[in-house]
Amino acid sequence: MKTVDIIYRYEVGGTPAKPLPSDSNAALLRLNDGNRDFAALLDHVKDESGVIQQIIPVDPRDLGLVSGSAGVPKQRPFAAILGCSDARVPIELIFNEGPNDLFVIRVAGNCLGTEVLGSLKYALEHLGGTLKLIVVLGHSGCGALSTAVDVFLNPGDYLTFAAKHSLRSILDRSLLVVQASANKLISEFGSDIARNPGYRQALIEASIVTNAALAAYSIQQEFVAGELTELRAVYGVYLLETREVWAPRLGNIEGVGLSAVPHDLAGFVDLGNAVVQSDRIRSYLKTGE
Ligand SMILES: [Zn+2]
Repeated sequence: MKTVDIIYRYEVGGTPAKPLPSDSNAALLRLNDGNRDFAALLDHVKDESGVIQQIIPVDPRDLGLVSGSAGVPKQRPFAAILGCSDARVPIELIFNEGPNDLFVIRVAGNCLGTEVLGSLKYALEHLGGTLKLIVVLGHSGCGALSTAVDVFLNPGDYLTFAAKHSLRSILDRSLLVVQASANKLISEFGSDIARNPGYRQALIEASIVTNAALAAYSIQQEFVAGELTELRAVYGVYLLETREVWAPRLGNIEGVGLSAVPHDLAGFVDLGNAVVQSDRIRSYLKTGE
């Protein structure tokens, strides 16, 4: 088995490591490229022996390491990312980014609560000079969505949350997405699909995508639409299995990389179709073509 070194390299007095993306497209490209490199680095790690190295250059200014400066770096992230608290999804690492690159908010199920919206509003109002993109990142096997699916499938379990207001608030936000995802699976495969042994897992994974897309849509509507800004919201799902970001979409149902947010209801219908037609969701149901 190989040894893998992922190294943050600061060169004091050197030139800035990476230029900031000039617009949302450049920011999106940088995150997608960074994730692809991270995933590729570990792809063949079990195949051979030896050492592979990934060096992430870091601008010395981001740690106050430039002589003659006041020493306190100015905050200048190019993307704000709302992700899940899940310990298996370290946001900077999976996008090959370092300090001062990303404004990260992590909360179970990447739910849009009041404090999350407040944090995003702060970022937009104070970091607008460099901030180009808002990302909602779900992940496969998310515990928050898994719990919501289990309650959806066995509504009596909701009673166990009667005295747990804080957990219930996360659950309540997710149930609508689970309901919509269940409707989509049944309209695609028929009502018997609910008896398929892989139905629960397919419903969890379909709900995770839709949950991220809906949160990104809400952010787009609340903060971006109608504003004279180049900022935009995108979404994706980090796959623990392959370490890639996944976002199936119309015309690219196996979609790798972050995706633009659906514009309207028709866009969500297209997204729902892409999700249930993707090989990944079908693989749980074993209903391949
Ligand atoms: Zn999670």
